[in-house]
Amino acid sequence: MKCMECGMGRMQLKMARTCHEVRCVKFEVEGKALVCSRCGFQVIPPDLLNEHAQLVDQGFRKAAGLLSAKDIRAARTGLGFNQQQFAEYLGVGEASVKRWELGALQDKSSDDHIRLKTDPEYARKNLDSLCERLGRKSPTAPQREVIYVPVSASSRRQSHQWDVESLSILSGTALSVYPGMGAVN
Ligand SMILES: [Zn+2]
Repeated sequence: MKCMECGMGRMQLKMARTCHEVRCVKFEVEGKALVCSRCGFQVIPPDLLNEHAQLVDQGFRKAAGLLSAKDIRAARTGLGFNQQQFAEYLGVGEASVKRWELGALQDKSSDDHIRLKTDPEYARKNLDSLCERLGRKSPTAPQREVIYVPVSASSRRQSHQWDVESLSILSGTALSVYPGMGAVN
């Protein structure tokens, strides 16, 4: 097949990077395309259009930081909800949940909302940054360091759990604690 752009080169099926822009987000995807051997002109053959559309969808979601349809479905089923229950849980229409799971693009705020209500790690990070902005201590901040200290030689085999602060209170002094060696003043 001759190139329809330059009329000289031959169109060959190969892996090629194509540039796209969706909702003002620019990204590239790599997939099969007919590429001119001479001028580089690219065409997606009709029988590969569906496959290519899927690549573009994945590429856009990745570039824009959006969950895939599969991710949304997994988030719902992970919580044991059917679509109607999930819609109520999120405060959206059931039709939205059905559309998203069929591949319709959710907007960024819906995506964020889904993550906040289904992903504990995402929710924790959000809580941390919210507390930081409000100048409050986050309830998920790391706990005090806990060190295992044998209380005496006879109880060495059943170490008790102390943290440095309570050991200091007990002894009335600041302590240096060496794990496995007991408390050393
Ligand atoms: Zn060409």
